Amino acid sequence: MAVACSHRLVCPLCDGRYEDDGLLLDCPVPHAGALLKTEYPARGEAGGRTGLFRYRDWLPVRRVVAGAAAPAVLPAGELGRRLGLADLWLAFSGYWPEVGAGFTTGTFKELEAYTVLGRLPDEPPVLVVASAGNTAAAFASACSRHRVRCVLVVPAAALARLRFPAPLDDCVRLVALEDGRYSDAIALAAALASLPGFQAEGGVRNVARRDGLGTVLLAAHDAMGGLPGHYFQAVGSAAGALGAHEAALRLAEHEDAGPPPRLVLCQNLPFAPIHQRWTGGCLAGSDRDLIAPELANANPPYEVAGGIAEALASTGGDVVAVGNEAAARAMRLFEDVLGIDIEPSAGVALAALQEVAETGRVPADARILLNITGGGRARYARDHALVPAEPVVRLAVPRREFPGTEDVLRVIAAMERGDERVVVG
Ligand SMILES: [Zn+2]
Repeated sequence: MAVACSHRLVCPLCDGRYEDDGLLLDCPVPHAGALLKTEYPARGEAGGRTGLFRYRDWLPVRRVVAGAAAPAVLPAGELGRRLGLADLWLAFSGYWPEVGAGFTTGTFKELEAYTVLGRLPDEPPVLVVASAGNTAAAFASACSRHRVRCVLVVPAAALARLRFPAPLDDCVRLVALEDGRYSDAIALAAALASLPGFQAEGGVRNVARRDGLGTVLLAAHDAMGGLPGHYFQAVGSAAGALGAHEAALRLAEHEDAGPPPRLVLCQNLPFAPIHQRWTGGCLAGSDRDLIAPELANANPPYEVAGGIAEALASTGGDVVAVGNEAAARAMRLFEDVLGIDIEPSAGVALAALQEVAETGRVPADARILLNITGGGRARYARDHALVPAEPVVRLAVPRREFPGTEDVLRVIAAMERGDERVVVG
């Protein structure tokens, strides 16, 4: 269903304003780094709209894409009591039918995938997406369902994560990197996206990602009757936290919602690049050692205009990093108390909140929103028969610099051969 576009793209550095062609990722003016933002008029009544697109007045989309779930927002109840927090709320983006959360791939990445698809122009180029697993699952599901051509590049270790109720449509081309890391996937995806006919999805630079993820805060505002004072979320690129911050500013501008919540960004030790920049420490560990490898983004938009440092400073925010053990304990606590499994990155956020609450760094009566960015994947697998996704190419990552031109050519050739399942490298 087509939607009238009423938004414009704005550069926070040079104040340039642009019509949205559905693909633009960066301000065309040559200057220092900046994240384009969206500008919308006031939103109308949601009426009978449901799912993600009930927020479509503040999404940069030209069409409604069917099947997109919205986050569930609920008081934390007993979990809050366990943490000594009287006014803790949860935003749950996963599979938990009892509270109305229907994300079949189990994470909030579905919010960004469906918004990115809604933003694309008609007859789009082939989308190229790098992922540690969750983003690939969301794009695979949405693109397969709506027959949008895409290439998803993932470390082979993420394949176990990619299981669906039915085989994926052939428009989804999955490239798996044997012994590859998230950073290798990012590098290969960038090389593929530079070729004619392909388009980088863009990650945090894509306004559709941030505004799609920002609907978590819109849902919370509507459910809580106002904005929370503090917002906790596990972050890699921080697209979700920046999206929430931008949504809060939009609520303040159009609906007099008051100051945006204080951002508390949570990362996974021993590889915590945002925490390291925030505290001025050094980056000691390896990205191979994380319980939540999707948080291991070595180049988050920290210093750029409209980026992480600005959002932290303007909200009096903080960055908290926790280890694997604490995150695993938090995952067990959540499941024990609420009866639903959560993803490791959500465990990182809960463990960070727990640490902050125990050390008195947040008042016991503070109004807090904890973004549970993924959960219910085990529950979904129990309730449904799932089949693994088949990569069209498995590429061994060589020890030399990766990717070389020959790696890119091999991937292209293998994809063009169609349904052959090849191992190269
Ligand atoms: Zn600019």
